[in-house]
Amino acid sequence: MAMEIDRDTGARVRKIALEEHFGHAAAVPHDAAGGIDFDAFEGSEGVPTDLMARIWPSLQDIGESRLNQMDLGGVEFAILSLTQPGVQGIRKRAQAVSVAREINDFLADTIVRKPNRFGGFASVALQDPEHAAEELDRCVNRLGFKGVMVNGFTNISDEIAYLDEPMFTPFWDAVAALDVPVYLHPRPPHERRAYHGHPEMVGAVWGFGAETALHALRLVFSGLFDRYPTATVVLGHLGEMLPYAAWRIQHIYENLYERQGTKFFQRRIQDYLAENFYLTTSGNFSDTALSCARQVVGTDRILFSIDYPYEATAPAVEWIEKTPLTDTERRKIAHDNAVRLFKL
Ligand code: MN
Repeated sequence: MAMEIDRDTGARVRKIALEEHFGHAAAVPHDAAGGIDFDAFEGSEGVPTDLMARIWPSLQDIGESRLNQMDLGGVEFAILSLTQPGVQGIRKRAQAVSVAREINDFLADTIVRKPNRFGGFASVALQDPEHAAEELDRCVNRLGFKGVMVNGFTNISDEIAYLDEPMFTPFWDAVAALDVPVYLHPRPPHERRAYHGHPEMVGAVWGFGAETALHALRLVFSGLFDRYPTATVVLGHLGEMLPYAAWRIQHIYENLYERQGTKFFQRRIQDYLAENFYLTTSGNFSDTALSCARQVVGTDRILFSIDYPYEATAPAVEWIEKTPLTDTERRKIAHDNAVRLFKL
């Protein structure tokens, strides 16, 4: 029986969290001495050196201390994912393929020890789309993973590619066949001229959200969801600003293109957001953002998440327990919507 919320006694509403990260030595840069090169995160990944050095132990912990945080916050179950950029940032195809396998096997070992507490998002080497499709199938059907996390565009040698590009058809075929969600997670923008002089804005302050919103819009404008009408994409941070922007995007698109007879997609932006996307609360514990997101995608498509360990558990859980919602709405967002989406 579901626990009822009781704000007076501080009893915790049951929660499932979905954007919870771990780190693995195979997928981070190393310095000449063989240690982890934390400076490289600041340079290329938009994460300050001192932050990365400080939270690396938490990223590596997928045992007692993480479970303790979950227990304190009433988080019953967490779907774990490799921290950004993960496999997407590996330029060499063969290395990306082998690291993806190693990470997925590592995660599977973790889940097997605590199957009632941890689930997994697959890492896939989109540098080799056929392999990514096979690996996703292995992760879902043999390792029991709940979906796949993709950290933005994929580095391929000296090029980059976005998920709407034709080379990724085998990946989307597999996603549709397996019927699992794709969590589109931020990484910093590839083009950096716009941020010259402002390295503080490259990462989570602005660049992550702007880049991920762009990527999600590329999926819509490519007609991907018309070709794969059941495809489901999960966005963090309450939709990377898209709920607030949706009306204007659709309005301008209609005026400049659709009414002139040029149609890139069949439905409206708002329809895709409400029918092909789920949004999580990761790192965006704002009553006003939640209100806007609910009005665009509906309460049934909002999912609680923290973004641990980049975000602390306590403020995230305290917010979802007190933000203005009915008990039924709160239960859906904190727990029940995730059970339905991930077939938990
Ligand atoms: Mn994250």
